[in-house]
Amino acid sequence: MKLRETYIGKILLTIKSLATGLRVTLREFFTRKITEHYPENRKTLHIAERHRAMLCMPHDEEGNNKCIACGLCSMACPNGTISIVTKSVTDEETGKSKKVLVEYNYDLGACMFCQLCVNACPKGAIEFSNSFENAVFDRSKLIIKLNK
Ligand code: SF4
Ligand code: SF4
Repeated sequence: MKLRETYIGKILLTIKSLATGLRVTLREFFTRKITEHYPENRKTLHIAERHRAMLCMPHDEEGNNKCIACGLCSMACPNGTISIVTKSVTDEETGKSKKVLVEYNYDLGACMFCQLCVNACPKGAIEFSNSFENAVFDRSKLIIKLNK
């Protein structure tokens, strides 16, 4: 009869297995912890600049944006996340009719963060921000008007 099949052998195997488990536990106990204690660490949390959390439309100090209402971003979007309302006005300088942006609506709940819209924009009018705390209880609140 082999030792491991005896009563004493089984006790020794159990102790060995227990010691193996405890060795792992002890090793992890002294290993530096990398778990993020969110939201307690909200102030010190590092989010990478390139993280795509939500689309935004930067505005200058006067509240103007670079959008020319061309609609290329909306056309590039694979799932209709962007909807644009435009109107035609007469350009004061040229006297010609031109489209201007009235409303730029972005559905954060539908966005796949693929960035195709940003790449399609010829004016650099939209970009991704890394502001990720966007949880809401009502999906309709995820439809955001990006232009002021
Ligand atoms: S990131 Fe992709 S899914 Fe989101 S709005 Fe842009 S094109 Fe559409
Ligand atoms: S955000 Fe860019 S691509 Fe989209 S309508 Fe405005 S200028 Fe055109």
